[in-house]
Amino acid sequence: MSIAHFEVDWLYFNIGSVSTPIASVRTSIASVRTSIALVSTAHSRESRRLAPGACTIATRAAFPEEIAVAPPRHAVCTVFPAMTLRAILLDVDGTLVDTNEAHVLAWLEALEAFGYRVGHDRIAVEIGKGGDLLVSDVLGKDVEKKDGEGLRKAHGEFYKKRIERDGASFFPGVEELLETIRGAGLRTAIATSSKKKDLELLEKALGRTFESMVDKVATGDDAEVSKPAPHVVEAACKMLGEDPLVCALVGDSLFDTASARRAGAASIAVTQGFATREELVEAGARFIARDLGHLRESFGEAVAAASRGKVSFDSSLIEALMDHALEAAREGMAKGEVPIGAALFSGMGSLLASGHNRACETGDVTAHAEMDAFRKVAAEGKEIGPGAILVSSLEPCVMCLGAAMEVGVDVVIYGLKAPADGGTERLQAPRSPENMLPRIRGEVRAGESRELFVTWLARLGTPAQRPYVEQLLAETGKGKEKKPEPKDEAKLEGKG
Ligand SMILES: [Zn+2]
Repeated sequence: MSIAHFEVDWLYFNIGSVSTPIASVRTSIASVRTSIALVSTAHSRESRRLAPGACTIATRAAFPEEIAVAPPRHAVCTVFPAMTLRAILLDVDGTLVDTNEAHVLAWLEALEAFGYRVGHDRIAVEIGKGGDLLVSDVLGKDVEKKDGEGLRKAHGEFYKKRIERDGASFFPGVEELLETIRGAGLRTAIATSSKKKDLELLEKALGRTFESMVDKVATGDDAEVSKPAPHVVEAACKMLGEDPLVCALVGDSLFDTASARRAGAASIAVTQGFATREELVEAGARFIARDLGHLRESFGEAVAAASRGKVSFDSSLIEALMDHALEAAREGMAKGEVPIGAALFSGMGSLLASGHNRACETGDVTAHAEMDAFRKVAAEGKEIGPGAILVSSLEPCVMCLGAAMEVGVDVVIYGLKAPADGGTERLQAPRSPENMLPRIRGEVRAGESRELFVTWLARLGTPAQRPYVEQLLAETGKGKEKKPEPKDEAKLEGKG
């Protein structure tokens, strides 16, 4: 939180004058916190000069010595806390505004009007997910089909009456927290499952608009499926023009944490809602505050926990990092292996090792690409350090994600989703203070990763791995990528 960095208009990489391989130049670019990020992923498109624009360097030390970096022009030296986060997303109900109880009571009234008897506590644990998911999760698919629409409408009406009659109020400390966030140079957005009209109702009761408080407002109307699906979080990030990896969502419910996790954003939780501290930790919250005042007091600690490395991600950088994993996958395939590659980067963004699947060579089914990279780093005695980034061309399995947690990986970026055995949805966060569930950003250059498997099947197709690859291709075929995932909440449902 105390590293100075420089804001510059121009940044030169004098590639022509040094004998540095393009790959390591790209790796060093990974350590640049930049909003210009003209990082070409194709070698032929490498540019000597990066485009003009605002750009921040995380410290000169972040660059490997051997790479010559021309002095930046118009260097404006400003000092503010080094942070790789660029935006804070905020949930509304139960986080900024004290409405959880009003929602529970309105649901109970709606359910009773339709002749369903459900206890207060059963509804309370569902608060935070959208009404589109709540009815079927509490009463089943048949009731959803029969009365879902009616129940949601009735809930809306009872809720409206209640808010109009009783009013609504912000939790203490909202204004101060927003000030702290802005003061740290971060942008803000609302990310709520509530529909726009519900938000307008609240604004009327509160006497102010959310648009007057934050930079962007994403509601349930901007999302295909409500929380715990990642869509609202993704919509808010998109509005801000930021990747989820540089955003953290502040929320009170397990569904906030789940939607942040699925989008690749960090989760910061407050325990003023119905979820307990333990539940929030296991769901993957990176930092937990008692309330907004506590969050404000410990904001530096919260953002440091949310993002441990010094790399500030954007889409072109993420794609450039994936280059290393795809390259390793191709290398493996050239040696007769299934094309899965991985690369491990330090928290400064420098490449520590890359590896590929070695099951054929070793006869060891656990010789996965990620493990190959981890073992190389260990064999060379390199230190992984905080904030490490694991990039894999295929969604890592539970074993590799477990290993990633053991070595303290902060961010996992993967290419193709592995619906049958991918570990990202099956992992629970550890409760130990030093190990955290990595932030996981999926489906980066997934098409290119998938293409490698198609080629493998046509050229090699080793019998032992053939069924696995055939299933993978069948489950990731056209129209199967980025499907909404409203109903696979086994873990959260178990808590309900
Ligand atoms: Zn694995």
